[in-house]
Amino acid sequence: MNNKYTSQIAGYLDVDQSQVHLYWKGRVALYALLQAMGVEKGDEVIIPAFTCVVVPNAILYLGAKPVYVDINVSDYNMDVAQLEAAITDNTKVILVQNTYGLSTHVKEVVAIAKERKLYTIEDCTHGFGGTYDGKPNGSYCDAAFYSTQWNKPYSTGIGGFSVVANSLINSKVEAINLKLVEPSFKEVMSLRVQLMLKRYFLTESNYWKALKLYRYLSSKNLVVGSSSGEEISGIDMPENFFKASANLQARFGYGALAKLDGVLKKRKLTAEKYTQLLKNHSKNFVKPDLMKNHSFLKYPLRVNDRDKFFELAELAQISLGDWFTSPIHPVRENLELWGFDSNKFPVATQAAEDVVNLPTDIDERAASKVLVFLENHLNLIVDA
Ligand SMILES: *Cc1c(COP(=O)(O)O)cnc(C)c1O
Repeated sequence: MNNKYTSQIAGYLDVDQSQVHLYWKGRVALYALLQAMGVEKGDEVIIPAFTCVVVPNAILYLGAKPVYVDINVSDYNMDVAQLEAAITDNTKVILVQNTYGLSTHVKEVVAIAKERKLYTIEDCTHGFGGTYDGKPNGSYCDAAFYSTQWNKPYSTGIGGFSVVANSLINSKVEAINLKLVEPSFKEVMSLRVQLMLKRYFLTESNYWKALKLYRYLSSKNLVVGSSSGEEISGIDMPENFFKASANLQARFGYGALAKLDGVLKKRKLTAEKYTQLLKNHSKNFVKPDLMKNHSFLKYPLRVNDRDKFFELAELAQISLGDWFTSPIHPVRENLELWGFDSNKFPVATQAAEDVVNLPTDIDERAASKVLVFLENHLNLIVDA
């Protein structure tokens, strides 16, 4: 099954199958890439200051230092103008991200990296299915990694993979992968429960009931969470972190990826409706020049009172996303443990205080409901 799935991924991304490597989670793929690039104690890896904590974690697990660069307000990606100042003699890798499904300025970053002889990685965990400069996201860096976690472009419950363009790094990744540990029987079983729930019970109409059930099962440890407590509370590598993918993930991935194009169309269509409405009311919206490359895993919206906005949305049964409620989501305390100083990254810090994500993978009726909700609460939405 793995073989069939990696072949399908390779076909979709127009790469060779030998470049595709499956893992238990996307973060594990990142860890393998960094290791293959020789990242070790004393090295620095540059990342955007608006990401998921598992990204700096993978760097810290290798004894290296994450170095953050603030983001642009318009696209939530690294501000290239601030990149050069972050590069030091210890920098080894620059990581770019396609936040919410949008790649921007990748070529500029790659050009800077080439000049300095640094490696580049694209975090495509939001952007599988999107494009940048005519090619699939992830095509321009030495390597890219992807996630198929519950909320990502397509899902295997949890899961991830890398695609390695640099052939030297690819052979190193192959050698490193020999050290992967197999997921335990219990882990695979609980993932199976989660996937079954999703397949058979999770439809738009019973989303809220399913969410309650999911939360209940999580509390009883009957589903595998996407992050363990220790990944959010500290910077030590969890035991058996370097985990291989299970056959089950490949099986679900194969089916889900086959349906992705339809989902992508739906996301884009929904996003266009949001843009139109927000623009008409002079509220913040995703700029039209970014729309072409945007795969809209999420539609970012800035609001004035986020807690209130979430409360009202839940009452209206609209499922908002919360990426990111922290510059290193979802960590809310002791950010200095991850080497993060909020004062230095005002744009990302502000975004983490007032951004919400509108759902995009929804049918026309559900989209209308969101549009009505937005119109009813324009006073809570930040002006354009
Ligand atoms: C989800 C996510 C990851 C990690 O993916 P997993 O498969 O959950 O390990 C990495 N980076 C970003 C920006 C993410 O949102």
